[in-house]
Amino acid sequence: MSGFWSLLSNDMAIDLGTANSLVYIKGKGIVLNEPSVVAVEKGSRAVIAVGREAKAMLGRAPHDIEVIRPLKDGVIADFGVAEAMLRSLITRAQKRRAFVRPRTVIAVPSGINEVGERSVRDSAENAGVREVFLVSEPVAAAIGVGLPVEKPSGNMVIDIGGGTTDIAVIALSGMVAQTSIDVGGDEMDEAVAQHVKKRYNLLIGEQAAEAIKIAIGSAAPTTEKDEEVEIEVKGRDLIEGIPKTVRISSHEIRKALEEPVKEIADGVKRTLEGTPPELAADIVDRGIVMTGGGSLLRGLDLYLREKTNLPINVVEDPLTCVVLGAGKVLDDIERYQKVLLRRVRR
Ligand code: ADP
Ligand code: MG
Repeated sequence: MSGFWSLLSNDMAIDLGTANSLVYIKGKGIVLNEPSVVAVEKGSRAVIAVGREAKAMLGRAPHDIEVIRPLKDGVIADFGVAEAMLRSLITRAQKRRAFVRPRTVIAVPSGINEVGERSVRDSAENAGVREVFLVSEPVAAAIGVGLPVEKPSGNMVIDIGGGTTDIAVIALSGMVAQTSIDVGGDEMDEAVAQHVKKRYNLLIGEQAAEAIKIAIGSAAPTTEKDEEVEIEVKGRDLIEGIPKTVRISSHEIRKALEEPVKEIADGVKRTLEGTPPELAADIVDRGIVMTGGGSLLRGLDLYLREKTNLPINVVEDPLTCVVLGAGKVLDDIERYQKVLLRRVRR
């Protein structure tokens, strides 16, 4: 399909992330960027809200509402809810009715199993999609930032998302070495919340913990003076049971983040150990590309450079490169046949 007819279609690329899902429409760019969160009514499982609206309910919902992140750990925990989310994304992205049903390229977590893959395909088809192509997230990220994935030279991508970190060495359109660990931004938030609880007897929610991480978190000093920054944190006192405010410093948050950050570095080292020597030599020359929202943690590039002795490059658009890569695949399906995860035949 080309020219005039393609203008009438709504072909789309979707990044189905553990924390954020994005939709790209051919010819339009990114049209949707929403948290991967669904609120359902307990019992009936009826969907109440999807995306930003549902995320705002996290930790605040009444007892009869359950707020779910269906892909939290990189695997689909709740198929019905995952399908509802995908359906909502597809419907909202299609502002107008198309003449032909859309084709989609969906980027899925690299740790997804066959059942998960099947479920993503079926859900998309149920939502009115004509043809579904799947691509692994690290490969989509690599294509999104313009790495030459089809060439024989090896490229390493570290994608630090919410629930998982995917580390992959890509060459000749495939993953040569791959590790997926369930440590990402969520684990960092959890480490912040644990620290605040232990040190100050203060309970905070996951959204507050994330806000602290983004405001003052770091993996390593980024300036020579390494000035300490403080912020006020509100929560519930564990002993008194009443609201309380404490001041927390950037240095103590760095200390709290040590464990998850170290686990990511260990994952990178393990993947490097499993990389064939020729490709390892390419990585020494070209360095490692780091993407995903978690790569925005201050000093994480410096920390990983120190641990691996390799150049680490944070990409310009870490939160969008997966969907943009999936979009490039969508725009030229023939060229990218080899990166697809198995074609649906009909
Ligand atoms: P996924 O692909 O799994 O959906 P994303 O790539 O969207 O994940 O990244 C989401 C994660 O990035 C969240 O844990 C979020 O807290 C984290 N994040 C976003 N911005 C920053 C920042 N400036 N500093 C540290 N972490 C960040
Ligand atoms: Mg992602």
